Amino acid sequence: MSPAATMESLRKRVRGPIITADDEGYDQARAVYNAMHDRHPRVIVQALDEADVMASVNFAREAGLELAVRGGGHSAPGYGTCDDGVVLDLRAIRNVRVDPQARTARVGGGAKLGELDHATHAYGLAVPAGFVSTTGVGGLTLGGGIGYLNRRFGLTCDSLLSADVITAQGRRVTASRDENADLFWALRGGGGNFGVVTSFDFELQPVKDIVGGPIVFELDAAADVLRTWRDYLREAPRELGAFFGFHRAPPLPFIPEERQGDNVCLLVTCWSGDPDEAQAVLEPLQTAGPVIGQHVGPMPYPALQGAFDALLPPGCYSYWKSDFALDVADDAVPAHLEHGALVPNVQSAAHIYPLGGAVRDVGPEETAFGSRDAEFAINIVGFWTDPADTETFRSWVRGYYDAVHPFAGFEGGYTNFMDVEDQARVRENYGGTYDRLARVKAEWDPDNLFHLNQNIAPAR
Ligand SMILES: Cc1cc2nc3c(=O)[nH]c(=O)nc-3n(C[C@H](O)[C@H](O)[C@H](O)COP(=O)(O)OP(=O)(O)OC[C@H]3O[C@@H](n4cnc5c(N)ncnc54)[C@H](O)[C@@H]3O)c2cc1C
Repeated sequence: MSPAATMESLRKRVRGPIITADDEGYDQARAVYNAMHDRHPRVIVQALDEADVMASVNFAREAGLELAVRGGGHSAPGYGTCDDGVVLDLRAIRNVRVDPQARTARVGGGAKLGELDHATHAYGLAVPAGFVSTTGVGGLTLGGGIGYLNRRFGLTCDSLLSADVITAQGRRVTASRDENADLFWALRGGGGNFGVVTSFDFELQPVKDIVGGPIVFELDAAADVLRTWRDYLREAPRELGAFFGFHRAPPLPFIPEERQGDNVCLLVTCWSGDPDEAQAVLEPLQTAGPVIGQHVGPMPYPALQGAFDALLPPGCYSYWKSDFALDVADDAVPAHLEHGALVPNVQSAAHIYPLGGAVRDVGPEETAFGSRDAEFAINIVGFWTDPADTETFRSWVRGYYDAVHPFAGFEGGYTNFMDVEDQARVRENYGGTYDRLARVKAEWDPDNLFHLNQNIAPAR
């Protein structure tokens, strides 16, 4: 065994905590967001800086151990953990430094969306990112990044200017348009396949307060709401973001108590344009059907970003099925209505996110995110707390997915919404960019050290 591969040498070279099964706090340190993945790593390194990351990558490679890189720990398939290998936990590397003049932010590889939003909001700026603020910037950005601001500013990865990456060889490189351009291309949609990103540089957009929030409708109106939303979004100004969902009404003050827990459909809206235009823009959505309750108004952008956090705490069991779709055509609507009416609890949901707009402004070859022609991302997720319920929730998710999948008109789905069993779809999910990704992978990680992800096999 090489000298770099011993635990003793790891301990000498790492400044952050190193946790093994004998240590107090091991169970807490090994836990990831999705309780389905109860794994027992040999060692967890809570890296404090790049040197710790380099040492951990070198250790795992030299020792021939599995390496799980953990950013926010949210991946549905539990890629942030493993059995008997090394977990490289980046959570302590989460500083965000905003340059308000240049409108850029340097963001640690282990930051969560809420930390990013908090830091940029102070300057009236934002990165277009996801819908739940506890999600990791790392995994979300590397897979693409879908959220309220996509139609206006593109995917999260479209705002990426450069990244510092620790390679499979334990070397630090910077990737940008001008430096290691192939790697930079691959990082924008190719997931964690190419190295450990210790910091991301983002372009920031002028977004401070928005007008929006959830509108909860009677389930009976779902067909009208779905069609109205779909058709309206085709023409609506790009400053409007809005997703459609089937849910159970949450226990929140704007829902009458007697209706909380009922099956409903909803729209969650985000108008980031001129506040004076908000009422006119949102009105067609607010009148798409009979409303049970709504909480639409001006609010800081991070408030909307964090609005669902409490509903989705870490430690639940979850199961995901997802597709991109070219359309939610009328002939697909009955399948959505049938299965959307059966959402089994308040945490579970089926969401349809619009893409298009600025997502399309970027060419399909320009970044590794190849599915630019998808109009929607459909995501069906079961969340539950009692492992005895696993089969009930999985069968709802699968039943819904099986019913709507034939209508997607699209081969792949969003890599960040894939679950364990979706590794078989990896080629379709990366779409037209897979072969180039495999070539870049062969250059930067020929032995596939970084394989706990939607894995791209290095080209031969
Ligand atoms: C509650 C919830 C809400 C979500 N909402 C959205 C949403 O609105 N929009 C959206 O696009 N997605 C969303 N997702 C999906 C999310 O993008 C993926 O789960 C993503 O992988 C999470 O990234 P993470 O860093 O938290 O996860 P992790 O499990 O830590 O990592 C996921 C993958 O990325 C790799 N990775 C993470 N950080 C780094 C890094 N710094 N360098 C190299 N590799 C890294 C890991 O190795 C792993 O393969 C959501 C997920 C959850 C659970």
